[in-house]
This record gives sequence, C-alpha cells and structure tokens, in this order.
Amino acid sequence: MLCVGNRRSYGDVCVNDGAVVAETAGLSRFITFDEVKGVLRCESGVSLWDIAQLVIPKGWFLPVTPGTSFVTVGGAIANDVHGKNHHVAGSFGCFVTRLGLLRSNNKLVECSDDSNADLFSATIGGLGLTGLITWAEFTLKRIVNPQLDVEEIPYHSYEEFLKLSDESESTHEYCVSWIDCLASGDQRGRGVFFRGNHIQQSGDLTEALQRGNIAIPAIVGKGFPLVNGFSLRAFNMLYRRAHANRKRAAEPFGKYFYPLDSLQNWNRIYGRKGFYQFQCVVPFSNAAAITDLLGRISKSGQGSFLSVLKTMGDVPSRGLMSFSRPGVTLALDFPNRGAKTVSLLHALEAVVCEADGAIYPAKDAVMTTEGFRQFFPRLDDFQSHVDPAFSSSFWRRVTGIETQ
Ligand SMILES: Cc1cc2nc3c(=O)[nH]c(=O)nc-3n(C[C@H](O)[C@H](O)[C@H](O)COP(=O)(O)OP(=O)(O)OC[C@H]3O[C@@H](n4cnc5c(N)ncnc54)[C@H](O)[C@@H]3O)c2cc1C
Repeated sequence: MLCVGNRRSYGDVCVNDGAVVAETAGLSRFITFDEVKGVLRCESGVSLWDIAQLVIPKGWFLPVTPGTSFVTVGGAIANDVHGKNHHVAGSFGCFVTRLGLLRSNNKLVECSDDSNADLFSATIGGLGLTGLITWAEFTLKRIVNPQLDVEEIPYHSYEEFLKLSDESESTHEYCVSWIDCLASGDQRGRGVFFRGNHIQQSGDLTEALQRGNIAIPAIVGKGFPLVNGFSLRAFNMLYRRAHANRKRAAEPFGKYFYPLDSLQNWNRIYGRKGFYQFQCVVPFSNAAAITDLLGRISKSGQGSFLSVLKTMGDVPSRGLMSFSRPGVTLALDFPNRGAKTVSLLHALEAVVCEADGAIYPAKDAVMTTEGFRQFFPRLDDFQSHVDPAFSSSFWRRVTGIETQ
C-alpha cells in the first residue's frame, strides 16, 4: 500500500499503480498548539493552508513552505519539502520534533531524535515508504505580519543571478527567481530576482487570509494545449516586460508563496497529454552545469514559463533520502511531447549526474535506476527501514523492487 496526501507531487511518488492507496484526508485534526512556544501538533492530513489560518492570527508562520499551500503535513515530511527560505532555514524536516508512524505490523511508533532516531531520519524525506505518518509535531516561526516586503530585480545573466543571490541571502529571508528558459545567445540566463522579508509592523489580516479561486474550466486543454511554442514566447516576453524595472511593494503571503493556488486546475493548460516537471540541484562547485542545462533546454525549445532558479543553503537536511542540499536548483515544466521530451529529460539527468547533483523525486517521472542510486547515496541504509507492506510506482520504477 501507499498513503498519500493531496497528491501535489508531480510524478509517481504519490502513485501506486495496481495496488492500494490510502488517502489521509480524514486525518485532519489539530492536536495541540502551544501559542507561547510556537509548537504545533496535528494529524498528517492537515494542509499547510489550514495551519496558516490557525497560526497567523497568533503571530506565527510556517517555518518552511513550498510553492503550494495544498500540501499536507504528511506530504511535507515524506518529501522533506523546501521553500524560498532554504538558504537560511533548511527544509521542512529540520523543524519536525516528533511524529507518529503506523507500521504494517500494526505498531504505532513514536519517532524523534531521542526515540527511534534511525526510523525518524528515514521517514523525513522517506517518500511514504516507512509507514503511515499519523501525526507530527513541529516548531513554527515568529512573525509580526504575514505580508511581505518584496523587491523585484531584473537580471541579465546567470552570473548576475549568482551575485544577487550571494548579496541577498544575508539580508533577505526569502529569495527566488524566474528565469527565461527560452532565451538563447547573449540573452541566455536573463530573469527576475524576487527577494522578501516579512513586514515588521502589524496589519489587517482579513485580506491576507483569503485565497483567490479562479477555476480553469474542463473544456480548456481538451482540444489543443494552450502551452505551445508561440504562447510560451509570448508569455515570456510579456512577463519580462511586466518586470523590466526594479520595484518594491508589499505583497500578501499567498501571492508571494503560492502564485498558482488561486488558479484551480491550472494543469489543464497543458492539454490531455499533460506535462513533466523537472527539478535538480547542482553543487556550487559545479554551478556552471546550470548553463549547460539551460542551453540544452533553450535549444530543444521545450521549456515552459514556470521556470524557477534558486540557491539552496548548507543547513543539513535530516532525512536519509532528503533531496535538499547546498547548490543551485533549477525547476521547470515541460509540456509532454512524448519520446522527444523523455529523451531531453534523460539528457538533463546525464548533465546532473556529471555535475554530482541530484534530481527531486517529488518532481520526477523518468529518473533512471543508476541516477537514483547516485543521487541518494544512503539508499542501502534507507532500504532497511522501508516497511515491507509499503511501495509506490516511483519506488518500483527506480529500484526495480516489485515487493519487499
Ligand atoms: C504548484 C506546486 C509548487 C510546488 N513547490 C514546491 C516547492 O517549492 N518545494 C518543494 O519541496 N516542493 C514543491 N512542490 C511539491 C510538493 O510540495 C510535494 O510534492 C509535496 O510532498 C506534496 O504534498 P502532498 O500532501 O500533496 O503529498 P502527496 O503528493 O500526496 O504525496 C507525496 C509523498 O508523501 C507521502 N505521504 C503523504 N502523506 C503521507 C502520510 N501521512 N504518511 C506517509 N507518507 C505520506 C506519499 O506516499 C508520497 O510519497 C510543489 C508542488 C506544486 C503542485
């Protein structure tokens, strides 16, 4: 079996083809909230949005948040997710103090640094394979205001992006950038850098706690996908123009952290064939590999507009199988054009392997067995903690193991 949260993973880590899938939607209760120390204990199906609603009015915020608030606590732990503050905070698992794990022998095991510590670090980033996380306890971040003071700065080369990251990381808690993955020649590496900090004066929360809700109708994408070479170039040009000048403004946290959350079913714009997502990280010592990746993507003409470039810091991840590690991370979508896209993804994997980097399982559907083994060197140790009744399509694909 496999337990899943809100299925916000892009690949097959949340798929268990031909076998049992248990949804954690019913595990939706808060258990305890220490409003003085900022420690929350809740069941694993609670979403990050629900947590934000509870803790923000009390002056607390999520310690780490990925690019969508639909993620559940179980999913955040099992993929050890990272956010725009990775350079200062590390990944979500760094804040988990204890969790409950239900194993297939019907034993409910409490895991922390002091109790079942090995199973604890196997479960953080453990891809849902060590058992069902029933609840978790984690520490929150103190804030005065969830709104952010955001500065956007256009940049013109990859080197300029690295320089901006370097100077912003000591002054700004959140850093991320959009990169024009279609640009070629002199223009390659151009993008927009966004850096922000929470506003330090208190403000009205009514608007901040609302989520937009525009739905993409089912009819969209049933015919031709809306994402094609023409629309991509047009989008990238318009986006660049809209962000052509340096700006600074206050932004609601939802808009800054979760730009896609107000657009229900945004995946429909890719049409029936859907899309692949790719995310890798390469160490700073081989940061030039990103230029190679961007060159291949631009030459293929297959990238998309949702391309993100960011640096990851050196706060150690606690999971045996955590993806986050120091370096430069590139993430983007590729409309599914069949074998052509898969072959591009394999070529990108080869560059990542050569650069001693890693590909993120939460965003993968084609990684090879050899790649997986190289990216996650503690795989053998991890395997001894996998629950014999648990598996996933991802696990079978990258290990070749059918049953334990
Ligand atoms: C728009 C968008 C933006 C994103 N941005 C980021 C980002 O910035 N950073 C990042 O790191 N990720 C990002 N992601 C990926 C997402 O954060 C992860 O894939 C996350 O794990 C999804 O959580 P989920 O609750 O939907 O879990 P699912 O996708 O349903 O499951 C993910 C994994 O968790 C396991 N799992 C879930 N619940 C449990 C449980 N209770 N017990 C045991 N195992 C469990 C599943 O078996 C599976 O292996 C993004 C995804 C989207 C769609």
